[in-house]
Amino acid sequence: MRGISSGVYYRRIIAAGSGGSVIDCVFCRIIARQTAADIEYEDAHVMAFKDIYPKAPVHVLIVPKRHIASIAELTDDDAELIGRCFLVARRLGETKGFADKGYRVSVNTGPEGGQVVYHVHFHFTAGRQRGHGA
Ligand code: 5GP
Ligand code: ZN
Repeated sequence: MRGISSGVYYRRIIAAGSGGSVIDCVFCRIIARQTAADIEYEDAHVMAFKDIYPKAPVHVLIVPKRHIASIAELTDDDAELIGRCFLVARRLGETKGFADKGYRVSVNTGPEGGQVVYHVHFHFTAGRQRGHGA
């Protein structure tokens, strides 16, 4: 595999599961530390890093380390992993001082849902007053 060490290549193919190849996934590259990102949180299952084009004063992306293309690809086996992502959101809310003020956790899904990166991610946004549904 040109440009990618074989170890990383095999790890990422395994990570793809039934979702197909993840070689071209920008978030898999961040998780593998092949692309730089401002990492806010990491454990064995989940990583959170700042959005490169923030749409709010605080804008962090929470991603499962295992490649899942979108909400539309979820299976029952993913339930715990997705729950972990929400627990990271709660943790970010606490560590960043928004537990009481509040924050938004949102997911774009599919072309009409505004999804651009096809690796499931939760947008954690905070620091701006906004109305319902905005
Ligand atoms: P989506 O529209 O798929 O829900 O959101 C994708 C998000 O990923 C966008 O907010 C975009 O700014 C962010 N993003 C895209 N490429 C990169 C990248 O290379 N690094 C980081 N940190 N964020 C990215
Ligand atoms: Zn990925």
